[in-house]
Amino acid sequence: MNKEENSGEMNLSKMKMDTIENEKCPMCQKDTLMLYETEQDIPFFGKVFIFGMQCKNTECNYKQNDVEAEKQGEPSKIEFTVENTKDLNVRLVKGSEATVRIPQLKMSVEPGIASDGYVSNVEGVLQKFKHILEVERDTADEDTIRKKAKNLLKRLWKVECGDEKLTVIIEDPSGNSAIISEKTIISSLKGKKK
Ligand SMILES: [Zn+2]
Repeated sequence: MNKEENSGEMNLSKMKMDTIENEKCPMCQKDTLMLYETEQDIPFFGKVFIFGMQCKNTECNYKQNDVEAEKQGEPSKIEFTVENTKDLNVRLVKGSEATVRIPQLKMSVEPGIASDGYVSNVEGVLQKFKHILEVERDTADEDTIRKKAKNLLKRLWKVECGDEKLTVIIEDPSGNSAIISEKTIISSLKGKKK
């Protein structure tokens, strides 16, 4: 299994999609931007539109992705606890306005200008957190931060082996996100300040 399949990331090159080439890139200003749009049917969730842009200028590489559910839900808090290795394969949709939090690691990924929407699985999300921690472990100036990152990485490895439980929370005011499992707990985000 290659890494891409493992992380559950969408492989755009394998999908049938509509593209518009040679648009002006907002970053490098060259006419090397490709816009694309495709859709995917996700069992027990429905149709998801996947769209974005990607600059083909290799010195730029600007890209931005987003997803939109055909049946948009309410603003919601979505909670899922990883209890075993099978749970890592659970499908997941994250809209670009969503915040992903892992309280046990005291970590969150907030939406921002460069925040992507994507279709992935639980393992794919853990990989993203792992990557952030690996960068901290390798580049942080402070010894304590490096050490903390190292310890959190160890915990993530345990989760990936099914030895430790971990709760992943997605908060999405746009209602485009989902974790597709009967174990998922969905509650309303209404009345909660951002
Ligand atoms: Zn560019």
